Amino acid sequence: MNDKHVVVIGAGITGLAAALRILSEPNPPRVTIFESQNRVGGVIHASPFAGIASLDESADAFLTRTPAAMDLIKQVGLADALTSPATGEAYIWKDALHPIPHGTMLGVPGSIRAAWSTPLLSTSGKLRASIEPLLPNRVGRNTDNLGAAMRARCGNQVLERIIDPLVGSIYATDTDAFSVKGMPQIADLLAQPRSLMSSVKDSLAKRIASGPIFAAPQSGMHAFTTAIAERVKQLGGVIELSSPVRAIEQPKRGQYFIQTDDGTVLCDAVVMASPAKHSATLVDTLSKDAATHLASREHASVVMIAITVPRSMWPQHLVGSGYLVPKPEQTAVTAVSFASNKWSHVQTTDNSMVLRVSLGRDGMPMHHLDDETLLKLALADLYWHLGIDLAPTDVRVTRWVESFPQYRPGHFEAVDRLEHLFDVSAPGVVFAGASYRGIGIPSCIADANRAAARVLAKIDA
Ligand SMILES: Cc1cc2nc3c(=O)[nH]c(=O)nc-3n(C[C@H](O)[C@H](O)[C@H](O)COP(=O)(O)OP(=O)(O)OC[C@H]3O[C@@H](n4cnc5c(N)ncnc54)[C@H](O)[C@@H]3O)c2cc1C
Repeated sequence: MNDKHVVVIGAGITGLAAALRILSEPNPPRVTIFESQNRVGGVIHASPFAGIASLDESADAFLTRTPAAMDLIKQVGLADALTSPATGEAYIWKDALHPIPHGTMLGVPGSIRAAWSTPLLSTSGKLRASIEPLLPNRVGRNTDNLGAAMRARCGNQVLERIIDPLVGSIYATDTDAFSVKGMPQIADLLAQPRSLMSSVKDSLAKRIASGPIFAAPQSGMHAFTTAIAERVKQLGGVIELSSPVRAIEQPKRGQYFIQTDDGTVLCDAVVMASPAKHSATLVDTLSKDAATHLASREHASVVMIAITVPRSMWPQHLVGSGYLVPKPEQTAVTAVSFASNKWSHVQTTDNSMVLRVSLGRDGMPMHHLDDETLLKLALADLYWHLGIDLAPTDVRVTRWVESFPQYRPGHFEAVDRLEHLFDVSAPGVVFAGASYRGIGIPSCIADANRAAARVLAKIDA
């Protein structure tokens, strides 16, 4: 190791991945990760449930399309331990469960046939979706509002009944207040100078040969962060748990004092891999403008309830991986994963069905309710959606408060400005993670790699 020192704030997947990337360089600097909680993983977390050794309490998979996540999985030796969902069939609830229409990408139809194949759309909705290829190219392309862009091109029903449930459930968001660039697959479609339908059709044709879209370690997503942390330590990195960073100061340009409850350390660069709101107070001494901007960032809270249901109560025809609830139909539940159908590793010894029920999203907070009320609301929605009066034998309620950063239109331009501000005023302080350039796990890892490269460049300069 060389004599430079990098501090990483936060041991979520972003901080861990950034630390590993830095330590994997020849002759790397010393790396210390400070984490406020008593465990690594951040929002990636699991616990025993209904006899299952560990059941994820949040993320249960990652997209395989982005190389960053697969490369890291290989680097930490988990490539052979991956599994993929046992079924690709999922539903959207609109008076009944309807399969997510084939020939669509994130709900955007790739053909007129795909639009007409689903009972989710009325005849007028299908007609409106069918004229998308005839619309002038500019329609829906000069806005960074995802809902507005998709309403303009595909019509209100496609947005509300298919795209919003899919994108909304991934990011706990309301697509009418979300950035187009926050959903890169849709941003890519809109960037092509032709109809969305033809672009979707081409993308789907390329996708067929490329294997499963989602993957997870057989023992759950937390195995990923645990493995990265182990590798970081093997390479000489230090992970200080239960060590919240309290303040950062710049005594001399490009050098930083990191203050924790145990004292102060000096370093040459800082990866801010803590969520934006947490980072706001830390950078107050470096830039008041940045602190104000970070503090103003909005996050959505969700609740994840895991329940087991005796197999005898479970309707045999419900063989898919779960369902989503469109925004106009939501009262509490936004999505339900039929986890025992979806994952071969989520099986109880008595063959109960494990469900993971998501409640709340941006604009529909639920986390303030007590466990009993949340469970009642979840069961009432399940009764309404599935027509079955479920009596769970095991229940686990997890609140994820302010866990989903909300990328409002213009988000990415604001991140560019933040980055520029720090390049000028506090070189070597870089921001990475879900708050900035992508919320999904692969995007967090890609951002961690980017942050690591910027830190190394600063140190070498
Ligand atoms: C319920 C849920 C389900 C999800 N499902 C999926 C999914 O299936 N697939 C997918 O790809 N993504 C999913 N996501 C998103 C993804 O898991 C997260 O965006 C990603 O894990 C965020 O990682 P991060 O490291 O950027 O942030 P975090 O995990 O939030 O880590 C930040 C860390 O910083 C620490 N910290 C904060 N302040 C300080 C401080 N002052 N000092 C020291 N440490 C500090 C925190 O304790 C935390 O550990 C899900 C998210 C949630 C909440």
